[in-house]
Amino acid sequence: MNEFLIVGHGLAGAVLAHQLLNRDQKVTVMDGNLAHSASGVSVGLVNPLIGPKLNPPEKIQECLDVNESFYHNCEQSWGKLFYKPISLHRIFKTKKQQSFWSVKRRDSIAGLYTGKFISSVDWKTKGLHAPHGSGLTKNAYQLDVTTFLEKSREKLQSIDAWESGSFSGGEGIKKMGVIFCEGFRVIENPLFNHLPFAPARGEVLRIESKLEDSVSNGAWHLPCNEEEAFIGSTWDHQELMCGPTEIGKSEIFKSCNYYDLSRQPLLDHLSGVRSGTKDRNPIIGEHPKIANRYLFNGFGSRGTSTIPYHSCKMVDFLINQKTIPKAVNLARFD
Ligand SMILES: Cc1cc2nc3c(=O)[nH]c(=O)nc-3n(C[C@H](O)[C@H](O)[C@H](O)COP(=O)(O)OP(=O)(O)OC[C@H]3O[C@@H](n4cnc5c(N)ncnc54)[C@H](O)[C@@H]3O)c2cc1C
Repeated sequence: MNEFLIVGHGLAGAVLAHQLLNRDQKVTVMDGNLAHSASGVSVGLVNPLIGPKLNPPEKIQECLDVNESFYHNCEQSWGKLFYKPISLHRIFKTKKQQSFWSVKRRDSIAGLYTGKFISSVDWKTKGLHAPHGSGLTKNAYQLDVTTFLEKSREKLQSIDAWESGSFSGGEGIKKMGVIFCEGFRVIENPLFNHLPFAPARGEVLRIESKLEDSVSNGAWHLPCNEEEAFIGSTWDHQELMCGPTEIGKSEIFKSCNYYDLSRQPLLDHLSGVRSGTKDRNPIIGEHPKIANRYLFNGFGSRGTSTIPYHSCKMVDFLINQKTIPKAVNLARFD
């Protein structure tokens, strides 16, 4: 049995910890509850079609399969539900996007994720403005990240595998494997901050909303109960730690122009920092010179979809010395 210290209990550290525990490894997770974490504001959307061209990203089906088994396994053993399928309507911004959709519905791979078309007339009856209509995204899911992390922490505390506080090194950890899952705070970690990270701050609003559909035109509206919804988000690479801003708020209302939300009461306004990378792939693996120091980071805007899948690769590397795929391997920057 190996012994690992995981630094950071955002989605990356939490998922990795349970994957290691499931493989009978000894794990301690440490978290400093630091401000601006991404998982603290994430709405946990798993969207199998991304970007303006609505393409399925690399390995999406593998990611969905691992998610299904990993999150449902946790739900069963922790006695709480947090991962559910959702009906996500993609509002087309242009006529061109609408035509992409018709082509994709006939494609053997993209067709798995592209569902029925809903016309502008049908949406109008719900008060939604979608002049080019929408397409139903199949196989979309949502993770209640806050509940997942709460239950994860409870579980870790119950087996004496939890430590509160910021990592500061020390003699005790010399022989342990230390896996850094610090999110964007990796920029303060001298072992790994030379890597090409590209953090981006994002804001989210929680508002009163009676619109019961999950919709997105790039900017999403995701109901959290019958009365409230999350809407977002924004991208800012400059001011990472400034917190919520008035500019961010108006940008979100402006982007969600498919529904009149601007007069809805604002219940909460959050800001967090995604740990992105310049080549948009995660960075995982071992430090090139210092043994037993590992990185599991760089999940950008899609951590909910990809972290369980990549955690399997990381665990296979840590326990069975299996090579990590080149596209995400830290060694690609050697
Ligand atoms: C506005 C917004 C909306 C998002 N929505 C989605 C979405 O819908 N779907 C999706 O897939 N992704 C979404 N994301 C991205 C998602 O949040 C991230 O991919 C994921 O949460 C990253 O998790 P992480 O564990 O790597 O980092 P983080 O969540 O940032 O966690 C890092 C943790 O490490 C701790 N830490 C850092 N340094 C130390 C230290 N030295 N010692 C101890 N503890 C430390 C921090 O306290 C923190 O808890 C969103 C992000 C933002 C900002």
